[in-house]
Amino acid sequence: MELPFAESYKIKMIESIRKSTREEREEWIAAAKYNLFNLRSDQVFIDLLTDSGTGAMSDKQWAEMMLGDESYAGASSFFKMKNAIKNILGFDHFLPTHQGRAAENVLFSAMVKTGDLVPGNTHFDTTKGHIEFRKATAVDCTINEAFDPSIIHPFKGNIDLQKLETVLSNNASERIPVIIVTITCNSSGGQPVSMQNLKEVYKLASQYKIPVFFDSARFAENAYFIKTREKGYADKSIKQIVKEMFSYADGMTMSSKKDAIVNMGGFVAFKDVELYKKASVYNIMFEGYLTYGGMSGRDMNALAQGLDEGTEFAYLETRIGQVAYLGQKLLDHGVPVLVPFGGHAIFIDAKKFLSNIPREEYIAQSLAVEIYIEGGVRAVEIGTIMADRDPITRENRYPELELIRLALPRRVYTNNHMDYVAATIINVFERRNQIKRGYKIVSEAPILRHFTVELEKI
Ligand SMILES: *Cc1c(COP(=O)(O)O)cnc(C)c1O
Repeated sequence: MELPFAESYKIKMIESIRKSTREEREEWIAAAKYNLFNLRSDQVFIDLLTDSGTGAMSDKQWAEMMLGDESYAGASSFFKMKNAIKNILGFDHFLPTHQGRAAENVLFSAMVKTGDLVPGNTHFDTTKGHIEFRKATAVDCTINEAFDPSIIHPFKGNIDLQKLETVLSNNASERIPVIIVTITCNSSGGQPVSMQNLKEVYKLASQYKIPVFFDSARFAENAYFIKTREKGYADKSIKQIVKEMFSYADGMTMSSKKDAIVNMGGFVAFKDVELYKKASVYNIMFEGYLTYGGMSGRDMNALAQGLDEGTEFAYLETRIGQVAYLGQKLLDHGVPVLVPFGGHAIFIDAKKFLSNIPREEYIAQSLAVEIYIEGGVRAVEIGTIMADRDPITRENRYPELELIRLALPRRVYTNNHMDYVAATIINVFERRNQIKRGYKIVSEAPILRHFTVELEKI
């Protein structure tokens, strides 16, 4: 018989989680004003709110924690991280930061000014936030296929070269300080960018002399998709693919809470020493001295080790395989999920799932609450509540898609947990026709309301 797939690691330390009763969960979610961010983590059985900083570190990463050098300047931990970035990603210069958005803040402080345009595939919300904060504009040049949740395309994160060329040719190059390519594209569902596309974007950008930076939180997952989907890469190692990917960039920002499998950390890396020097000033101002910038020595050590483990095929196959395992279970039972499955998360189309609820009553949020009540599983709403109000009219913005996201922490849950999650959602799916009413907002913040919004059942 053919030997089945099995995880590429075993468990050395465990953390208890407790099941609750439906009655307890109904009480807790009402007390949390039907906002899942307000729940305490011990009120959640399986937490799929995010894959950011929620991964399980390995024995080797924990061993590295003990070896951390906490010297203010010139710590050996800094050089460990420098070597890992040079060897795995290929960049000579880098600045450590406390997380991904801090890397964006440092880089954009050096590059982006009022009135600028920053084209790319769909920018992540903190990236867009840092661009708009500087009164510049993020221009979305993603291929059209990305916006249809049912079209099968292997690289839905790709940039439409025509759209990009239009932006580059219609505007003075002084107004376009940088192109940002997000790998994988988080905002369009963890969808990858092909090597071919990275190469072509870089070529086009070079013609206009505009630098390309990768927003690289899930670069290793992107490399896995290149290996398994793109012609010519099946026999290359993930580390070879990663090296080639970054050869088509002038630098990168990184949220290490994703593919470097640490709980906190980030960095910005550069090919060009002059730009590195320019950004260094902002790193010292906002993050910390050049050789620690917002990270402790032990965290830099764990990050260096995590970059190595995160770019191993066996690990990525286990991780992305688990995401697909959950997605396929849901699909087999008719649950409307986005395809192809993303690298880090499964997205459920809430409008198709709960077709009785009017959009004014927050369809995706209603579904996230039902799933929590059913099985203690926490997902996140990516729908009307997150889309917020129009800044001028103050009316709700109703996005094309009402989604909930099930993001899987790295190396944390087993496939039994995935069976439990799938059964929870399938149970709600089977009683979907009885769910007819949603929620109304009783209190909300003027921006980023989803974190603190308070709701009442209608
Ligand atoms: C998470 C993330 C960020 C921001 O990183 P933080 O570590 O959360 O500050 C930026 N870009 C992408 C694509 C991300 O997924």
